[in-house]
Amino acid sequence: MRYSALKILTQALTGNKGWKPAWREPEPKAHYDIIIIGGGGHGLATAYYLAKNHGLTNIAVIEKGWIGSGNVGRNTTIIRSNYIQPGNEPFYEFSLKLWEGLEQDFNFNAMVSQRGLLMLAHSDSDIDRFSRMGNAMHLAGAGAQLLDKKGVEKIYPFLDFENARFPIQGGLLQKRAGTVRHDAVAWGYARGADARGVDIIQNCEVTGFQIKNGKCLGVETTRGNINANKIAVCVAGSSSRVMAMADMRLPIESHVLQAFVSEGLKPVLPGVITFGAGHLYISQSDKGGLVFGGDIDGYNSYAQRGNLPVVEDCCEEAMALMPILGRARLLRSWGGLMDMSMDGSPFIDKTHIDGLYFNGGWCYGGFKATPASGWCYAHLLASDKSHTLANEFRLDRFKRGVLIDEKGQGAQPNLH
Ligand SMILES: Cc1cc2nc3c(=O)[nH]c(=O)nc-3n(C[C@H](O)[C@H](O)[C@H](O)COP(=O)(O)OP(=O)(O)OC[C@H]3O[C@@H](n4cnc5c(N)ncnc54)[C@H](O)[C@@H]3O)c2cc1C
Repeated sequence: MRYSALKILTQALTGNKGWKPAWREPEPKAHYDIIIIGGGGHGLATAYYLAKNHGLTNIAVIEKGWIGSGNVGRNTTIIRSNYIQPGNEPFYEFSLKLWEGLEQDFNFNAMVSQRGLLMLAHSDSDIDRFSRMGNAMHLAGAGAQLLDKKGVEKIYPFLDFENARFPIQGGLLQKRAGTVRHDAVAWGYARGADARGVDIIQNCEVTGFQIKNGKCLGVETTRGNINANKIAVCVAGSSSRVMAMADMRLPIESHVLQAFVSEGLKPVLPGVITFGAGHLYISQSDKGGLVFGGDIDGYNSYAQRGNLPVVEDCCEEAMALMPILGRARLLRSWGGLMDMSMDGSPFIDKTHIDGLYFNGGWCYGGFKATPASGWCYAHLLASDKSHTLANEFRLDRFKRGVLIDEKGQGAQPNLH
């Protein structure tokens, strides 16, 4: 069923009796061409592009919970393509271009809002780094604008410019960046994949792999064994646990990242701000709540809930940046499970086990990557060759010493 204004009108006039479920609830088949483990944004996008770009539809997406229950429905909704490294920037810019046409492509309102993202600069070296980043972005066609203090003041006059611990000197603005309604992305991709014949199997946990003579033949699940020619793992924060079932150790640690929403306020923040000196990112949702987050919790965990010191830390940072928030009340908070890689960059690669593929290590920036990740993973699964845009996202890059360390911080997940 195609969604359109005319459809809403005709349904309204006929008692809204013609709407169909957005996707089916099929029973798992005994065999598929490809099984994707994980019904998050990346898994569903992969299924969608396998069907749409490569005509492969004998596919199952196996999700242990429900569609959107993972990070795809828990993130702070920011999309952007402001990177420096050649391995990253063209990939994220391609993703941003896919976001720009996504709603028309999958015929679903994901509330893509290109309201602009400003990274604040607090020192001469910040300005220097942002100049280089802006140039890298221009070279990739991403567009960027370096602002001085007056330029920032024009858009955000209420920030604390003078008395702050980290005075604001300027910033790097990407006007095409913004926010997207996160769970709608899962729903849109799920609906588009289902319409093309992909089976989305919810409430089905993968509990093991069937590996014989170096080849992966299928998965064991809570709803029985399912065989496939290819198995594509795409489980974000559960990456190390799932790959351990195939006896693989990954250069990934899992940490909790929390997000916060204030009570609804009148429009105050026109765009997204990131406050690098303290580590805070904040925007205002269309419902009025300020949506913000900061650092990962300081210890490894597989829990989807966080601790109080980070709540305090984030609220302090928001106050330091925007003292006008002093009387706003925090409405709710939640946690998600982050697959933090050792250089802060992801993996889209085959493994050493024939028929077993891996996508993960998105750290806390994987939402914006969803369309390009799905596109490139689908390409790898369909052709057995890395997509040129994801060529650097290899599992053996640590062995080869070719890291993609965007911030030059080494193997410290909490700093990426
Ligand atoms: C609080 C927070 C804020 C964030 N903010 C941003 C942001 O503003 N911008 C940005 O770009 N990124 C952000 N991120 C990161 C982003 O959300 C993730 O990197 C991205 O969503 C991960 O990919 P995914 O959507 O496929 O993951 P998920 O939605 O987590 O999908 C993985 C799925 O695998 C399933 N699974 C796990 N194990 C199994 C199993 N054994 N069997 C079957 N299924 C299994 C899980 O249930 C889950 O549904 C944020 C994350 C969090 C938590």
